[in-house]
Amino acid sequence: MFQSAAKLLQSATTMPDKGRRMTQKLVTSAPAQVRAVSGRPETAATLMEVWQGLSAAVVDTIADDWYATEQKYSAGRQEHYFSAEFLMGRALLNNLSNLGMVDEAREAVGSFGDSLSDVLEQEPDAALGNGGLGRLAACFLDSCATLDLPVNGFGILYRYGLFKQLFEDGFQTEHPDPWMEEGYPFVIRHEEAQRLVHYQDMTVRAIPYDMPITGYGTKNVGTLRLWKAEPLEEFDYDAFNSQRFTEAIVERERTSDISRVLYPNDATYEGKVLRVRQQYFFCSASLQQIVENYVSHHGEDLTGFADYNAIQLNDTHPVLAIPELMRILLDEHHLGWEEAWEVVTKTFAYTNHTVLAEALETWEISIFDRLFPRITEIVREIDRRFRMEMAERGLEQGTIDYMAPISGDKVRMAWIACYASYSINGVAALHTEIIKRETLGEWHAIWPERFNNKTNGVTPRRWLRQCNPRLSALLDEVTGSDTWVKDLTVLAEHTDSVDESVYDRLAEIKHANKVDFAAWIAQREGIEIDPEAIFDVQIKRLHEYKRQLLNAIYILDLYFRMKQDPSLQVPKRVFIFGAKAAPGYIRAKGVIKLINAIADLVNNDPVVSKTIKVVFVHNYNVSPAEHIIPAADVSEQISMAGKEASGTSNMKFMMNGALTLGTLDGANVEILEAVGDDNAYIFGATEDELPGLRESYDPVWHYENVPGLKRVLDALTDGTLDDNGSGWFADLRRSLLEPSCEPADVYYVLGDFASYRETKDAMAADYADTRAWQRRAWVNITRSGRFSSDRTISDYAREVWKIDPEPIA
Ligand SMILES: *Cc1c(COP(=O)(O)O)cnc(C)c1O
Repeated sequence: MFQSAAKLLQSATTMPDKGRRMTQKLVTSAPAQVRAVSGRPETAATLMEVWQGLSAAVVDTIADDWYATEQKYSAGRQEHYFSAEFLMGRALLNNLSNLGMVDEAREAVGSFGDSLSDVLEQEPDAALGNGGLGRLAACFLDSCATLDLPVNGFGILYRYGLFKQLFEDGFQTEHPDPWMEEGYPFVIRHEEAQRLVHYQDMTVRAIPYDMPITGYGTKNVGTLRLWKAEPLEEFDYDAFNSQRFTEAIVERERTSDISRVLYPNDATYEGKVLRVRQQYFFCSASLQQIVENYVSHHGEDLTGFADYNAIQLNDTHPVLAIPELMRILLDEHHLGWEEAWEVVTKTFAYTNHTVLAEALETWEISIFDRLFPRITEIVREIDRRFRMEMAERGLEQGTIDYMAPISGDKVRMAWIACYASYSINGVAALHTEIIKRETLGEWHAIWPERFNNKTNGVTPRRWLRQCNPRLSALLDEVTGSDTWVKDLTVLAEHTDSVDESVYDRLAEIKHANKVDFAAWIAQREGIEIDPEAIFDVQIKRLHEYKRQLLNAIYILDLYFRMKQDPSLQVPKRVFIFGAKAAPGYIRAKGVIKLINAIADLVNNDPVVSKTIKVVFVHNYNVSPAEHIIPAADVSEQISMAGKEASGTSNMKFMMNGALTLGTLDGANVEILEAVGDDNAYIFGATEDELPGLRESYDPVWHYENVPGLKRVLDALTDGTLDDNGSGWFADLRRSLLEPSCEPADVYYVLGDFASYRETKDAMAADYADTRAWQRRAWVNITRSGRFSSDRTISDYAREVWKIDPEPIA
């Protein structure tokens, strides 16, 4: 389905060596690997064993190229992408698709009597991230590999990825996700490359596990290196012998804690000491390796370090790399402070991901004292010198105190990043303007040249080629080749130059995807949905600023409108949600419970449910996203303007021909610019209007005067909806209407409601004209080129990292 025979032949002629050799290898190695994994004939192996064996066979086919890529990159200038999160999703299909081996794998698996899609469904998601920030890191690695760029990722091998979400009585419950427990062939342990990481109270071994990152139609294979913490000695034999058996076990567990679990929080962090330990752990191990590599290729003089190495800090989680590199340069390579600082400030670049002040990390300095006094000393010295430098520049004391790395008993990671980095970037044009003006305004005033924008992107391999084979085939056909997969901008040539029949084809493709999705939902959630309905989708982490509550209020209002006037003409719709809430974020969990309660009400109403349905897909993750997005008609991007840094699901939807219903926020602004006013549905207050509106904003006035709002908000507490006595619905209602510690309705839900309802109603009505709708979808698809992460990464490579492609062949 992915590649016709002719296409396979064509790729075999354009890449004769690679194409032919790998084609032979997989066919012969897959059965052998399945037999080795299962100890049985391949025809008798379980689906899981087939997945294991096929995956091992894929690693086998790329091993030589992977090694050659590492050798080549380690000798030249490299960029190292430091991130506490990599939300990779599944690997097997991604690799098969990149390597052009899907048909072959289908054939091999078929000969064992299995279907490839059943085998692929066995794979657990590598969910080593929370959401957008972690998925961005994963898309970036895909683009770096595809573009042959000398970039490797560095992170943590969490034993437990992001929690698994279940619903019990509509409440979110969290469950562990031991994703590697049954074995995972796409990470390779490299015992020989271990490093020691020292803390004041313990020393641990950091063992690297490497994941190959294949690119599309290239031999280069990049590396994601994930560190696992293990005890220095397998067992403390002294403690064991002296009967302190329990102590030995406890010590062992304390070490393993470091890489045990991903913090399931998007904005603020708990378990502070452990969290700081984790951050230092992967920064220290990665830097040791990078410095050693530099020495082995370029000698002991570390003053040239930044000529060969750039390090991108994905948010502030890896900022401890800054004092740690200082420590290595000062203490282990005996550079003077000025020399070392010069190296550091030419090495690091920092990406900011949020305007939310509460998400800028600060740590009690006592945590640093306890874990690594030498790092504290270095941070204090950075702070002292910063204060001197700023005084010399004539800054006011108040400003200096505000910007200094240490304030009172807190270390401020974002300020360290801003001070030490040669590049500071936001992730969408609007976001970058806001951080320059507000979040990081003081820094911009001093170092405007450090600031730049790199609008996020997503990889068209996973988010189009692989998840939407039908649309992918149409694009091959319309453009005459698969070059769009590596250069998505070529699609723009076809925006206007197609005949009308393409819109009919698009409609057929979307419909077929919706039929598939309906079957998937029926099996997964036990709900029947009608593929003729509009599929209206909001999938993203649950956060107040993303305003799932606004969507919920719309649906409840629509329900009441339909009950009140049964003759009301309402387009058929399915409202689809997917979202995890941070376990301690009660209000977010309240919204999940509310949407599930609305789903109960709507789906069980014999009349209303004929027209609208509500589905909350549990355990939202990368793989569910790959099922949902190709089937979506409407992409809900409804954050309060100014709060969403970029968003990336908006881009995935656009590529798959869903139309955006959104505010002028994050990258929505640029999507609108790319497609034009006629091809997106924009509503609500803008970022520059909000401060003015805010002054006179009275949510209670809206409650009383916007038709329908009173009815909806009262339903939260009058018994219409049941929160099982939790009191959470009353809290939601209060959050909109009653000022407590915050002003009422901080995220302007009621203020934007009327505009949202009007736009959403109009959008649903427009859907009836299929041709016109699909024409707009086609514009979205063909203008999505600038939202490919290939574009983002080319910009980073050229403007920030100063690296060039290094193809191995
Ligand atoms: C793309 C993606 C996100 C980011 O979604 P936004 O709507 O941009 O916040 C989060 N989680 C998963 C699994 C994703 O694939």
